[in-house]
Amino acid sequence: MKCFDAHSDIWTDVTIKRLKGETNVFHNHHFERLQKGGVEGSILVLWVDPPHIRDYAKRTHELFTCVKDEIAEAKDFRIVKNYDEMMKAREEGVFYIMIGVEGMAYASYDPTFAKLDEYYDFGARHGMLTWNEENGFGHSAASGSTEGLSDLGKKAVLHMIDKKMIVDTSHLNEAGFWDIARIMDGRPFIASHSDCKKFSQHPRNLTDDQLRAIRDANGCVGLNAWNEFLDNDPMKGDINRLADHCEHMIDVMGIDHVGCGFDFCGFLGDPNDPEVYSGMDAVTWGLEDASKIPHLFDILRDRGMREDEIEKIAFGNFHRIVKEVVG
Ligand SMILES: [Zn+2]
Repeated sequence: MKCFDAHSDIWTDVTIKRLKGETNVFHNHHFERLQKGGVEGSILVLWVDPPHIRDYAKRTHELFTCVKDEIAEAKDFRIVKNYDEMMKAREEGVFYIMIGVEGMAYASYDPTFAKLDEYYDFGARHGMLTWNEENGFGHSAASGSTEGLSDLGKKAVLHMIDKKMIVDTSHLNEAGFWDIARIMDGRPFIASHSDCKKFSQHPRNLTDDQLRAIRDANGCVGLNAWNEFLDNDPMKGDINRLADHCEHMIDVMGIDHVGCGFDFCGFLGDPNDPEVYSGMDAVTWGLEDASKIPHLFDILRDRGMREDEIEKIAFGNFHRIVKEVVG
C-alpha cells in the first residue's frame, strides 16, 4: 500500500546536515527508508528546531538556503505545487514533496504579509501559524494559553485562504483552533499530525468536538506516531494504540477524514552535538520509522478494514484536500 505522509521534518535534518557540509541529504539519509515503507510523497515542513527558536529569522533563512540547494541537487524527488503536479509525479513514480510551514514566527510580526508571501513564493502551499511557540499570530497548545488568534493571525488565515494554502491547526491551542474553524466557515482545514484526547490528554491532541469540526469542514486529521500522544501511559504507546486512534477517528468523523501525518523524528539528533534537537525518545513501538508504515495498514486489515478504506487513510483523503484547497 502506497502512503502519503502529510507531516515530516526532513527539511530540518537536511538543514542541520548541509550546514555541516553534507550534500544530497534526502538521498543519502532518507530515500531508502521512505521507499521501504511505501511512502510515495509527503508534506515536508520548514520548521525552526528548538535550539534556534530565539533566532528564528536567521534559522528561517538557513532553511530557505539549505532546502533550495538540496532541491537543486534533487535526483529522486520533485517539488509539487498543486494537485496535477502531484498526480503527474505519482504516475511517473517520482517521490513528490509539497513544501509546508510548521510555525510562522518569522512571518507573524509583519502586517503586510510580505514574509508570509516569501513562504508561498518559496513553494509552500501549506502552513501552521505556530509551532510550540507563541508568536504574533497566535498561541500554541504547548503554551497553555486560552487566548485565541491575534487580529493579525485571523487576517493571516484569510490571506492563506486567498493564496489557496492548506490551513493546518496542529500545534495551535484550542481557542486558536476554534477561531480557525469559524474563519474557514465550512472550507476544508486540517490537523496534519495530531491524535485523540480520548487516549492521551496531551495538549496537542484533539477532543471529539474538534474532530467533528474538522469533519464538518470536510477536512482531514493525520495520525501521528509521536509516543506521548498515544496514551496517558507512555508504556502503552505502540503501533496497536495508534490503530485504536485511527478507529476512534473513524467512529467520530467517518472514513473520509483520517490520513497519515506520522511526524517521524528518530532521524533527528546527534548525541555528540547539544545544538541538535533529538526526537529519538519519542518513537512509537512497532512504528519507529517510515519503513514500518506497512505494519500499521496490516493491523487495520486484521481488524477488518477493507482495502478501499485503507487507501483513503494511506493517501486518498489528503490527496482530496490538496485537490480541493490548493487546486
Ligand atoms: Zn509538529
